Amino acid sequence: MFIKDNSTTNPMGDPVECGEELGHLASGGDVRNCAVYARLYNPTVGRFEKALSQLEGTEATVAFASGMAALSALLLAVREDGDHVVAVRPMYGSSDHLLASGMLGARVDFCRPDEVGDHIRPETALVFVETPSNPTLDLVDIADVVRQAGKVPVGVDSTFATPVLQRPVEQGATFVLHSGTKFLGGHGDVVAGTISTTEAWARRLRSVRVMTGALLHPLGAYLLHRGLQTLPIRVRTAQASARALAERLSGHPAVARVQYPGLPGGDPKGLLGRQMKGPGSLLSFDLRGGLDAALSLLSRVRLATPAVSLGSCDTLIQHPWSMTHRVVPPETKREMGVTEGLIRLSVGLEDPEDLWADLEQALA
Ligand SMILES: *Cc1c(COP(=O)(O)O)cnc(C)c1O
Repeated sequence: MFIKDNSTTNPMGDPVECGEELGHLASGGDVRNCAVYARLYNPTVGRFEKALSQLEGTEATVAFASGMAALSALLLAVREDGDHVVAVRPMYGSSDHLLASGMLGARVDFCRPDEVGDHIRPETALVFVETPSNPTLDLVDIADVVRQAGKVPVGVDSTFATPVLQRPVEQGATFVLHSGTKFLGGHGDVVAGTISTTEAWARRLRSVRVMTGALLHPLGAYLLHRGLQTLPIRVRTAQASARALAERLSGHPAVARVQYPGLPGGDPKGLLGRQMKGPGSLLSFDLRGGLDAALSLLSRVRLATPAVSLGSCDTLIQHPWSMTHRVVPPETKREMGVTEGLIRLSVGLEDPEDLWADLEQALA
């Protein structure tokens, strides 16, 4: 195969063969003998996609410029089968915003996990869920959603779990979505999105990617592939610290409630062990002092960084009401459990004692 690594174009050794390959790639086929042009195929991106497929246990992965580009491509790829989507709330604010906007032509019904079956129609092309959910850390029973969806394919945003803790295809999901910006990259230096699925669906997704150009840059793919090597130790170390912090926060007088699947009552459906290997490293907590207390906490932390995003080596703290879920209408936020006093913490790799000392001084 003719490949000039990480360049935009590739010499077409045999013009007839490479011309055929162009048609094959443009219709979503995987590379065979000629990379042709960087919007059709890139070997570094392809290498990362193969590695992630192995971790997720899927035939294929298609990588995109961001998590939102991946979700957009998914909505476009399922359009052939119908324009109706059932989406389970709560979810990441921008995903909610995109689905609610109807921008990509999808008519979306939002519901709770146990209501999915009631919303399926002949023209339903996708059921979309996020578990653990952002920012409330609810765990959704994927196998139960798949059962309710019947023949309709189910897509799971598994960003918070990573393949280290959860493999949604083993529960019957058809698509696994990640914001690669988060744990997969893991170092806060790359924006990316992925969908892992069957080869047949990957063809449709690749052809959307070729047509819309929402490519993952090869340098991003290089960083993601490198990040995968440390994914298990990053996930497990941060998870151990998150567990310790969740326990301590739940005993703190300023905190009304901690949401973390690893705390007693945090996993009412018993999905830890069955669907997810561990509770992960994100948690959220409600401050008794509401909005003022939340904003004051953010202004007082010294080690944790007040910032959106998650899954990085460093601990990030944010206020969903005014930040990640800003674009969601206030009444919808309250319905989803996103209150004015809610704080979300993405625990990183710092010493957990240092993190606790920081939170304690900021809460005092
Ligand atoms: C960040 C995030 C997204 C969007 O990903 P981007 O890479 O920011 O486009 C989607 N879902 C979840 C759960 C996220 O955390």
